[in-house]
Amino acid sequence: MMKRTGVMLALALAAGMASQGAMAKTLNVVSSFSVLGDIAKQVGGEHVHVDSLVPPDGDPHTFEPSPKDSALLSKADVVVVNGLGLEGWLDRLIKASGFKGELIVASDGVKTHKFEDDGKEVTDPHAWNSAANGALYAKNILRGFEKADPEDKAAMDASAQAYIAELDKIDSWAKQRFAAIPKAKRKVLTSHDAFGYFSRAYGVTFLSPQGLSSESEASAAHVAALIKQIRTEHVHTWFMENQLDPRLVKQIAAATGAQPGGELYPEALSAPGGVADSYVKMMRHNVDVLADSMK
Ligand SMILES: [Zn+2]
Repeated sequence: MMKRTGVMLALALAAGMASQGAMAKTLNVVSSFSVLGDIAKQVGGEHVHVDSLVPPDGDPHTFEPSPKDSALLSKADVVVVNGLGLEGWLDRLIKASGFKGELIVASDGVKTHKFEDDGKEVTDPHAWNSAANGALYAKNILRGFEKADPEDKAAMDASAQAYIAELDKIDSWAKQRFAAIPKAKRKVLTSHDAFGYFSRAYGVTFLSPQGLSSESEASAAHVAALIKQIRTEHVHTWFMENQLDPRLVKQIAAATGAQPGGELYPEALSAPGGVADSYVKMMRHNVDVLADSMK
């Protein structure tokens, strides 16, 4: 009897240890903004819990972090940031929080888009607005997750590869969609310069009164020049951006007779249940409303 109990106990202990070893570890992940947060969820699946600092419909350029955000960072195993100068508010926050985990810069290795702004060369941070770059972001995020949680490498690798294949498909679909439209029609007006990478990947021209960051103010001279350009280049459609006040772009549109084309999601997802509550849906939505407006 004693012997049998001893064996049972040993078996129970062994089973307990085995199930503990196989038990999925959940990484506590904090992303700087909602787009990165979704890519991180798709890559990590059930092995990650993701919180985003800038919420859906929020502006990642002008975000003002609260003590609650610092507390989230202090408990994180992994932090995912875009880099390329997007999150000017983040470095100080990370330092202040005492975060010591794995820091993933999702845009690592991206072919950067640069342009001149008031005589200075500036790097465009909005790299996720090409689906091919979204796939690169997923690869960088996967590498960081695997470092932080090597036991779940196989599972995360499988979900990441399926996701990357989906993003590659969206990239080719978007290229075909715009290639079928005459180049002269592929021009729109929007609020700020968030579509540099989209423009380079899919051959669409975007005009906007605000620069690379929504923080920059448009001068009267710039607005006047833009109105002239919209008229001479026959730009007929303007778009709102979900994270910005549309007053300025609306005024410019009214001065030129451009018609509303709908709403674009350049750097924030919609709230859950909305038309762009994932990165995949956001890319599909942006391509669809833009292409539809050019008919
Ligand atoms: Zn932006």
